[in-house]
Amino acid sequence: MARIGVLGFLHETNTFATGPTSLARFIEADAWPGLSTGDALLDATHDMNLAVSGFVEATQANGHEIVPLLWCSANPSGRVADEAFETIAARLEAMLRNTSIDGLFLDLHGAMVTESLDDAEGELLRRLRLITGPDCPYVAALDFHANLTQTMVTHTQAMVAYHSYPHTDMADTGRRAAGLMQRLLQGQPLAVAWRKLDFLVSMPWQCTLSDGPAAALMSAARSLEDRDRPEVQFVPGFPLSDTPEAGPAVLCYASTATRAHEAAAILIDQIEASKQNFGGRLYLPDEALDHVLARTEGRTILADTQDNPGGGGTGDTTGLLHALLGRGIENACVALICDAEFAQAAHACGRDARLKRPLGGHHDPGGPPVDGPFDILALGDGRFTGTGSFYRGCRMDLGPMARVRKDGVEILVSSRKQQAADQAMFRHLGAQPLAYRILVLKSSVHFRADFAALADEILMVKAPGVNTADLHELNFRHLHPSMTIV
Ligand SMILES: [Zn+2]
Repeated sequence: MARIGVLGFLHETNTFATGPTSLARFIEADAWPGLSTGDALLDATHDMNLAVSGFVEATQANGHEIVPLLWCSANPSGRVADEAFETIAARLEAMLRNTSIDGLFLDLHGAMVTESLDDAEGELLRRLRLITGPDCPYVAALDFHANLTQTMVTHTQAMVAYHSYPHTDMADTGRRAAGLMQRLLQGQPLAVAWRKLDFLVSMPWQCTLSDGPAAALMSAARSLEDRDRPEVQFVPGFPLSDTPEAGPAVLCYASTATRAHEAAAILIDQIEASKQNFGGRLYLPDEALDHVLARTEGRTILADTQDNPGGGGTGDTTGLLHALLGRGIENACVALICDAEFAQAAHACGRDARLKRPLGGHHDPGGPPVDGPFDILALGDGRFTGTGSFYRGCRMDLGPMARVRKDGVEILVSSRKQQAADQAMFRHLGAQPLAYRILVLKSSVHFRADFAALADEILMVKAPGVNTADLHELNFRHLHPSMTIV
């Protein structure tokens, strides 16, 4: 039996979003647990679709002792404050100094950027290595949107990234990490082959469920895996991170370097051959509504991708809401607009009251607030459990929530931003997604896990927000000189 340390420190940093992201964002809960340590870490993450949950379950089943250290995450946003990174890193370093472990599991995102560090995970790994030495097996789970770096590869024995976007396989990724940890503990080393690719793909076109090339490339990677070559990975990367090592990568582990390199070369050729196929249509709000109004029946989802909090959006932009109201649309619902003061005021007024204050539009770019009055249809405390395959088991804590109506449009309001990717967000406020003809969801891809089956059509809409969908609009300054945008 081995003693395996477990930690988590996750943030996807959109360097184009306003920062810094404070320590408080890592301490508070949102869809995922707040900062937790020791046994509380295990309770907080038990049986959720999180890598740490899957890793702990599988590693305990393998007969090992889990040493829970610290786990925290913050919703995607601007650069992480130096104070937040240094505080959490110092706590982790102190914990490692005071315990003895035979291996370390790290639940990381892989695209964290701080005020001072372009590669925050690499720096964290480097510091922890100084304490444990180079031979302690480190296995990290990474997001599908990780921007791999040489420092991260150097300081880990293995890293495994999610295979699917929507990330319905986070817990499974933890189980894959547990398999590699077991292999390392049994004295079977893993050789690595990896390479960065030289193009960025916008978030909506990375989906592994739609017609784009991502699904086929993930299948191609799986077909190259076997017992001696357990991980052949295409990691598409997070494009809204203006850093020298941003971008997709191929990452392979095998029993020999030759076998790892062989798979990497095959997969790289396949990715290069299909990279021009990433893409799709972005609709302006009025174009999307013209399209919807031309249909006589069926349900349409308008993905408000540029204000997706899951990519750093503020969750309170009003572009699509103004467009719906301006066109006199009936039977639509917008989810979620984050406005804590509005939600608090709605709770103070009470259900069935009429609230006059404006809603949303607190950030730039975002569109002006939407003026009241709003009819308050339902109130909630923001505490409920995710039921879709992406947020499965997540005990959400989104602060006071309200469902309000203005003209023919209903709006779900939260006090903490979260992407609209789970039907439980509607049901918490007494709403049924099937009751609406138009669903506006502030999400790029994750919503598909729980909502795609409800829609006759899904349109990607380009309304104001910092989760820029057309990467050509951004002024990148720090990317590798060879990087292109497809
Ligand atoms: Zn991701």
